[in-house]
Amino acid sequence: MKLEALVNSSVLTQPVYEPGKPIEDVARELGLDAATIIKLASNENPFGPSPRAKAAAIRAMDQGELYPDGGCVALRARLAKEWGLDAGQFVIGNGSNELIELLGHVFLRPGDEVVMGNPSFAVYKLVTLLFGAKPVEVPLVNYTHDLAALAAAVTSKTKLIFVPSPNNPMGTANTEAELLAFARNLPEHVVFAFDEAYAEFLENPPDLRPLIRERRKVVCLRTFSKIYGLASLRVGYGYASAGLASLLNRVRQPFNVNAIGQSAAIAALDDGEFVAKCRSENRAGLVQLETGLRALGLETVPSVANFLLVKVGDGARVFSDLQKQGVIVRPMRPYGMAEWLRITVGTPAQNERLLRTLAKVLRG
Ligand SMILES: *Cc1c(COP(=O)(O)O)cnc(C)c1O
Repeated sequence: MKLEALVNSSVLTQPVYEPGKPIEDVARELGLDAATIIKLASNENPFGPSPRAKAAAIRAMDQGELYPDGGCVALRARLAKEWGLDAGQFVIGNGSNELIELLGHVFLRPGDEVVMGNPSFAVYKLVTLLFGAKPVEVPLVNYTHDLAALAAAVTSKTKLIFVPSPNNPMGTANTEAELLAFARNLPEHVVFAFDEAYAEFLENPPDLRPLIRERRKVVCLRTFSKIYGLASLRVGYGYASAGLASLLNRVRQPFNVNAIGQSAAIAALDDGEFVAKCRSENRAGLVQLETGLRALGLETVPSVANFLLVKVGDGARVFSDLQKQGVIVRPMRPYGMAEWLRITVGTPAQNERLLRTLAKVLRG
């Protein structure tokens, strides 16, 4: 019997996520020195983690032989204080990507529908397909989530709606007022997953906690991978009603989040100064990139996140020529935007190098 005959059919048709290439892979493939390569492809923090988070991670290795606290008690208590919610309203994930999958475990059955924007974060669609559910993709308007159109796409089969704001890969955001109104108008049978992966880059991020207090079916997802600079440790969290949080906690692995990540995340929350510094550096870096790209005559999508889209023509060629010069960015063909690249905001020097290299590559 063929192996395929045994496999859950949604696995056979499951598309594969294409991550930004690691520096070491690019160095090996192109014969470059890894130390000279810059990666502006995965929206990581170019300033690394807070020194306090790094010290906490190293300290945590002193007890590397022990299983982590499966309940993430200390981290949830710290988050409860941060947000003015109860510890029981939190679920910690192996990155917020895991939380997106947990939503699938809890809510999705074959034939269910999941509403999402297009383009939007690729993982929503992957998780939807994995559970045999149907992605219902709603085009953006002006590069921004069209909340009215998302609401209009809801049917009796809809279980989940994913809205990231700022959205990846566009870098655009929706306002707090429109998000609150949107959520309050959703029917009772729909769970609203609000993905706040880039919220810390906003001066005034939307606060959807009123929806939780009103006992609406909403879960907000956050991550330590972006502004906190801890992508390698894989820690994300969700906050929701205690009921929704406990359902998500029920379907996760007992030790889904490692102890090094838990300790680093707590220390990262304690270093608000570092977060504020990264936020203001990012704002300056966005201006630097937008100004430089405009000077090259290129169109960009105005971004409030730590990355931006730029239209370069033949995206595949420019991506590959940049990579040969040791600058890794993200081609947007997988998102149906073959003429565009997504560039993560780097340090001032990295941004300068990107602009200089891009100018050279575009000259041919
Ligand atoms: C990067 C990102 C995440 C975070 O992923 P982790 O698993 O926490 O590293 C979640 N949502 C969006 C939209 C992202 O871009």
